[in-house]
Amino acid sequence: MRNFIFLIVLFFVSQWLLKKLRRANERAQQGEAQGGGATAGGASGAQRARNGNGNGNGASNGAPQLADPLIRCAQCGVHTPRSESIVVAGERFCCADHARHYASRPTGRDAR
Ligand SMILES: [Zn+2]
Repeated sequence: MRNFIFLIVLFFVSQWLLKKLRRANERAQQGEAQGGGATAGGASGAQRARNGNGNGNGASNGAPQLADPLIRCAQCGVHTPRSESIVVAGERFCCADHARHYASRPTGRDAR
């Protein structure tokens, strides 16, 4: 009889644990979506996000400057860190000069 009760308790505990895990996963995914920095380790990412929220230093700048992903310039193809890149109309450039060049260039398919 004791065994049976033990099984029931185990069942409830496992359900509770599953719920907790699911919540943690959802939180981790949301943090990644907001931060934009995709890391391979989901668990470590969640911990980092929680730490960032707890400190409350940078409200929206959740991602610490650990990873600065390289971004390809749409004009010349040079890879530049995201913090130094310039975003114009959805395209990323290494410098403002290239952004201007890209914008002034004809888009083609203008045959009339
Ligand atoms: Zn460039």
